[in-house]
Amino acid sequence: MTDKTLTRRGFIGATAVALPVAAALASRTALAEDLPHLDPNDPVAKALSYVPDVSKADTSKLPGFKPGSDCANCIQIQAASGAWRPCTAFPGKAVAANGWCAAWAPKPA
Ligand code: SF4
Repeated sequence: MTDKTLTRRGFIGATAVALPVAAALASRTALAEDLPHLDPNDPVAKALSYVPDVSKADTSKLPGFKPGSDCANCIQIQAASGAWRPCTAFPGKAVAANGWCAAWAPKPA
């Protein structure tokens, strides 16, 4: 009885932790997909020279641009996947994974 009780308790405890985590991850993904895309003409985006596709940009005009840098490898991006993701520099908006702005900083290795 004790082993079964512990097993049941362990299962219930693990479920109690796993379900909210799964729900939070699912809602975070849904939230990222629901966010409006950052407009490059947004005043803050313009001030930071944001471009939605750095591969098509004239990088000589992007202040501080480092080859290979983009939103997907920036420390400020808030999701591991997706073409459009939240960014701490632009709350409430999604930035393009292929984008770039002057606030770019590398993710830690
Ligand atoms: S802060 Fe980073 S992730 Fe956000 S727009 Fe700029 S380069 Fe992209």
